Amino acid sequence: MIVVLKRGAEQDKREQLINWLKNQGLGVHISEGEYQTVLGLIGDTARVDMDLIESLSIVDSVKRVTEPFKCCNRKFHPDDMIVQVGDVKVGGGNFCMIAGPCSVESEEQIVAVAKAVKASGANMLRGGAFKPRTSPYDFQGLKAEGIELLKIARQETGLPIVTEIMGTNYLPLFEDVDVIQVGARNMQNFDLLRELGKLRKPILLKRGLASTLKELLMSAEYIMAGGNEQVILCERGIRTYDDYTRNTLDLAAVPMLKELTHLPVIVDPSHATGIARLVRPMALAAAACGSDGLIIEVHNDPIHALCDGAQSLRPEQYDDLAKAVRRVRKAVAE
Ligand code: PEP
Ligand code: MN
Repeated sequence: MIVVLKRGAEQDKREQLINWLKNQGLGVHISEGEYQTVLGLIGDTARVDMDLIESLSIVDSVKRVTEPFKCCNRKFHPDDMIVQVGDVKVGGGNFCMIAGPCSVESEEQIVAVAKAVKASGANMLRGGAFKPRTSPYDFQGLKAEGIELLKIARQETGLPIVTEIMGTNYLPLFEDVDVIQVGARNMQNFDLLRELGKLRKPILLKRGLASTLKELLMSAEYIMAGGNEQVILCERGIRTYDDYTRNTLDLAAVPMLKELTHLPVIVDPSHATGIARLVRPMALAAAACGSDGLIIEVHNDPIHALCDGAQSLRPEQYDDLAKAVRRVRKAVAE
């Protein structure tokens, strides 16, 4: 980190600042220029409050030269992280296909969809039991019962289950869930992230509706700093000014994140577009740009779905998509 002091900064205030920085365990390299003095901070600056330093009367500007994320930084972990979910590997060249309905609605529905997506090559089952809905009057999910139904579907198919948690109070219900999803709306629920950091269980962390990649990585850092390194990142579209699609799928995030972090990065073209017919082309694009997997909403009766029917694929559409994804992956690998 570099701190540029203002011209004519008073000597006593300068000394005070330097001593304060040293007391935080940092080395301070002082470079006296003709017009400006620059302090180079050496050591772990992750905990240094940049805004506080910037607010001091003698400080002109503060710049980070290293990223504040350490645990998820590829610089410190050059090899891809492989997240292990039962027998399924995610990352390091292992592509995951997570599929299932937006919400679990009944045993019949979840088991039928699980069987269908498995037959198409999916290797994990998704399904919301706790649903973060914009309106409090909309279907909120089957909650604990939904998780029990997911377990039945897992038993029937062998597919590991992925489902969203909304708050720390629900953690006991998630003990037997294979991958805990943190939804876009909870990406910066720091208490929740900290609790998930205490587990030794894979976490699927979705990008917030208007979050930068750095913010996404800092949220992963919360989980990993607690010792839980099993984090999968998910690009699911961000809020922009266009409203033809539900969100704007930021596909450049995939290769960018893969440069910045060794964590696997998957894409959710369902929530990114909100439109079933756009899911296939965006899934193919995600597979082509280096994503480590896809999470896609599939429903056996989208028209009557209790949530997100407009973006849900029918099982036969998913089957066609899965085949095309395999072709794209093969072509890209050649
Ligand atoms: C979901 O995957 O069910 C979901 C609600 O997605 P997001 O958090 O990305 O909106
Ligand atoms: Mn949904």
